[in-house]
Amino acid sequence: MNKTIPEPDQTLRARDREPHNRLQKASDHYKTQYIQEFVAKWDELIDWNARGESEGDFFIRELKKRGAHKVLDVATGTGFHSIRLLDAGFEVVSADGSPEMLARAFANGRRHGHILRTVQADWRWLNRDVHGKFDAVVCLGNSFTHLFSEQDRRKALAEFYAVLRHDGVLILDQRNYDAILDEGFKTKHTYYYCGENVKAEPEHVEDNLTRFRYEFPDGSEFHLNMFPLRREYVRRLLLEVGFQTFRTYGDFQETYQQSEPDFFVHIAEKRYETEPEKLRS
Ligand code: SAM
Repeated sequence: MNKTIPEPDQTLRARDREPHNRLQKASDHYKTQYIQEFVAKWDELIDWNARGESEGDFFIRELKKRGAHKVLDVATGTGFHSIRLLDAGFEVVSADGSPEMLARAFANGRRHGHILRTVQADWRWLNRDVHGKFDAVVCLGNSFTHLFSEQDRRKALAEFYAVLRHDGVLILDQRNYDAILDEGFKTKHTYYYCGENVKAEPEHVEDNLTRFRYEFPDGSEFHLNMFPLRREYVRRLLLEVGFQTFRTYGDFQETYQQSEPDFFVHIAEKRYETEPEKLRS
């Protein structure tokens, strides 16, 4: 008699599907979180010159140091980094999962004298929509925090890895959530690019969800949900998806006390070194 024996891992997958589906839906929220009004206000109030000054030429320098020319900005948003990189002479493709963001980025590009090459692409299916190989992928402005399941984070990083040339580099930044989770929020920890006009504070903090409130001078308020990424966790994921060497900067500095920086920047390289992997701080 022919008996169908259920595959054990199928049963497992069915059991695991529900929570993952829920988290995957949370990862989709970025499409609706950035409503027009919020994005318009943000763009109107954040002084791009001041933001540019506060980050200096850090990203440009790190990219040039590695001989990168062709850059994929996977979290274009309203175009701040894409436009800076174009100004600095890089060839840039500007991707984002949100068509509204890309439209705004395109308009901002025109104002700065550039025609942005935009592609609507969700990170989790990046290689379906973005073709060709890049010297560098940048995922900036605390964007990676929008993924709520580990499966989504691994898939996105694997897609970033795949779109890079054999010796490509990923630059990904994140807010210092360790400090918020372990020590509570300090007023010093405001978005380094918020400037004086926008007050950003976490309203709710737990291990798998932070809810930030953004207050504008006209009294309007907006909220964004984010996944609080711990520094070591992100570094482990980078290593596990295949990046060979990486370095994490704190507020653009190589040395820092872990609780001090507002932001961490991870620079992860694909290049395979013959020496055994060394975790650099
Ligand atoms: N890099 C820009 C900056 O620093 O001004 C924008 C940052 S904004 C905080 C995050 C951006 O990531 C949004 O434009 C959002 O649409 C995009 N995003 C979030 N999750 C995404 C995903 N899964 N796939 C593609 N884009 C995503």
